[in-house]
Amino acid sequence: MIDKIKKINGKYHYFNHISEKPQKGKFIFSVKDSICVKDMPTTAGSKILDNYFPRFDATVVKRLKEAGGVVIGKTSMDAFGFGSFSVNVGLGKKVPRNPFDSERACGGSSGGAAGFTKLWADINTKNNSNNKLKHIALGQSTGGSIACPAAFCGVTGLTPTYGRVSRYGLISYGNSLDKIGPMASSVKECAEALEIISGADGKDSTCLDKKKDFSLTSPKKFRIGVIKESFGKGVDKKVAAQVKSVVKELTKDKKLGLSVKEVSLPLTMKYGIPVYYLLAMTEASTNLAKYCGLRYGQEGTPRGKSFNNYFAQIRSEYFNNETKRRILLGTFARMAGFRDAYYIKAAKIRTLIIKEYQDLFKQFDVLISPSMPIIAPTFDEIEKLTPLQNYMMDILTVGPNLAGLPHLSVPCGFVNKMPIGMLLIGDQWQEKKILQLGNVVEKMATN
Ligand code: GLN
Repeated sequence: MIDKIKKINGKYHYFNHISEKPQKGKFIFSVKDSICVKDMPTTAGSKILDNYFPRFDATVVKRLKEAGGVVIGKTSMDAFGFGSFSVNVGLGKKVPRNPFDSERACGGSSGGAAGFTKLWADINTKNNSNNKLKHIALGQSTGGSIACPAAFCGVTGLTPTYGRVSRYGLISYGNSLDKIGPMASSVKECAEALEIISGADGKDSTCLDKKKDFSLTSPKKFRIGVIKESFGKGVDKKVAAQVKSVVKELTKDKKLGLSVKEVSLPLTMKYGIPVYYLLAMTEASTNLAKYCGLRYGQEGTPRGKSFNNYFAQIRSEYFNNETKRRILLGTFARMAGFRDAYYIKAAKIRTLIIKEYQDLFKQFDVLISPSMPIIAPTFDEIEKLTPLQNYMMDILTVGPNLAGLPHLSVPCGFVNKMPIGMLLIGDQWQEKKILQLGNVVEKMATN
């Protein structure tokens, strides 16, 4: 098995590290490189953390191991989770390639996780013996890093409610936004994985003890809200049309008795991107302060230098450009004199965005949009994007991430031979509803 994975990796670069001799288990799982695995290199995709070997397992890893899972490796990602295409990998690291077309990106930041999930599923499908080994990928989303690569690679990705899954052992990007969630080749596998990894944890005080019921019985009489703005300007017409046609199919199924209405999220769609990037970068800039070459990160020779010069030298040498950009912008947004105008204001608008969703969930069970506004772009196309155009790619995913809402990206057909995803958003703690509906969408779209 490991040889097979190494071969895939030679061409597609899904792993930063592959286990040498994994034990036998009930299933295999891969771990995004920002999640700690005992005695396995854990770099968060960055160069500054090369050679870091955690002495402990993240809670999610511990739970999957206890359930009979075996770690096969650490998947590639945008360094620290900073990106939407997994092209912002750490210096010296390789960019994962889309399983459908190696000239295109996997999406990000959990790109390696999604790409490998797809290729492993294909291997299992072709394998006629009883030796099929289920694979679960652990991803992490701050502003869309599970849904985006899941959509671009044709797999299912579940971002749970903030606080459903312990973050202990996750290398933080933005603490008020980070969520760990499963990616897999079916909704059922995502539901099973969530069952295992969720639940209170004494090591993460934001992780709550909530009822777990992720059974995939048929959804009945759900009230669906289709988010108007997410089918309009800036969204590829073919992507929008494909998602709409599957929604139409859903309504035709009389047994489900779904009712569908168009809804609007004006505030979220207008301010979601600036609010998300201000908050995420602000939090990231403080989280990354510790990588300075003393307690954390690569070391140099401090002798004869002031602290500032030494720290600046290490950080200049080992951080990539996107990481530097975010530290600068994030630090600026929280500086005395600017904090009220940027960070505090963004935090206030976030509260209004949460309220906008809460109002809708009084009338609806699930909200629907495409997962991403486009199909996976080619590397050439990405090179031409400005930073702002990059950030705009997250327009459909930052809303539920800011509001801490569970969301599921389910494969929903193809455009130009590339897979696209439908995003199902639920109210807090309502993972069951999006999984139930996702299960129907999955069957419909693959038939
Ligand atoms: N693309 C977003 C960003 O760059 C989201 C990344 C994430 O969820 N980790 O911040």
